[in-house]
Amino acid sequence: MNIFAVMKSTFDTEEKISVQNGKISEDSAEFIINPYDEYAIEEALLLREKHGGEVTVVTIGGEEAEKELRTALAMGADKAVLINEEELEEEGDEYSTTAILSAYFKEKSPDIILAGNVTVDGGSGQVGPRLGEELGIAVVTTITKLTIEGNRAVIERDAEGDVETIETTLPLLVTCQQGLNEPRYPSLPGIMKAKKKPLEKLELDDLDIDEEDVEAKTKVIDRFLPPVKGKGKILEGEISQQVKELTSLLVTEAKVI
Ligand SMILES: Cc1cc2nc3c(=O)[nH]c(=O)nc-3n(C[C@H](O)[C@H](O)[C@H](O)COP(=O)(O)OP(=O)(O)OC[C@H]3O[C@@H](n4cnc5c(N)ncnc54)[C@H](O)[C@@H]3O)c2cc1C
Repeated sequence: MNIFAVMKSTFDTEEKISVQNGKISEDSAEFIINPYDEYAIEEALLLREKHGGEVTVVTIGGEEAEKELRTALAMGADKAVLINEEELEEEGDEYSTTAILSAYFKEKSPDIILAGNVTVDGGSGQVGPRLGEELGIAVVTTITKLTIEGNRAVIERDAEGDVETIETTLPLLVTCQQGLNEPRYPSLPGIMKAKKKPLEKLELDDLDIDEEDVEAKTKVIDRFLPPVKGKGKILEGEISQQVKELTSLLVTEAKVI
């Protein structure tokens, strides 16, 4: 099988994040594989173990995204591709990402492309479905189980807490949801092997893309952290007294009644 996982290097939301001038400060940020993309990579490896073939992990990012690609290779992917977007002067958006990825996939004849359900930074959840649409292949989102026999795929997907079962055919794009699998940790031999595995670096020219072809259709105007919450007030004394005070505060301070 010709298996692809599309992966984004995102900052680690478990670490402290600081915002400066409407942008996440990259100085303090730790970068990791987007957690939903780990499910995509793991499922790609499981498919290869069952059906044979090759797993390629593709990312659009700067040079530093090589670290996350090496992690994916250490997990067991066969090949990695880094599409360098640094030469672009303007910021990209979901349109840009999809336009670049679809140019890459045009000549690739994938049997299946696995994406994350959503990224933990941008969080738009658009890239997977947009890419499938561009390539004219079936798309199933938020999958929690995947079975492929021949050309046929039976998929369970998370539909707002319920399970929906879908049958479709390859080629196929799926977006992966928590519960699909348990992503493996790279083993020490895996990390050693990853250093020698192929990592292809492409520029937009290699994909016959002009900058204006991938110009963003949207613009982020501002980013900010939620306002700091004020301290709560703990009422004390007799319950009847507390109720009176609470009612009075709801009228005079909170002004909700
Ligand atoms: C040329 C370019 C310049 C950019 N400049 C900036 C910038 O200056 N500031 C900024 O904050 N962002 C920038 N971005 C990031 C861009 O806004 C987001 O990557 C894009 O909009 C995807 O949105 P999302 O993160 O919400 O992904 P979602 O749609 O939530 O992602 C869903 C899934 O799509 C796949 N995917 C998403 N992004 C990528 C990727 N890059 N490579 C491979 N697979 C991917 C993953 O499988 C992911 O789980 C740039 C992107 C490009 C292509």
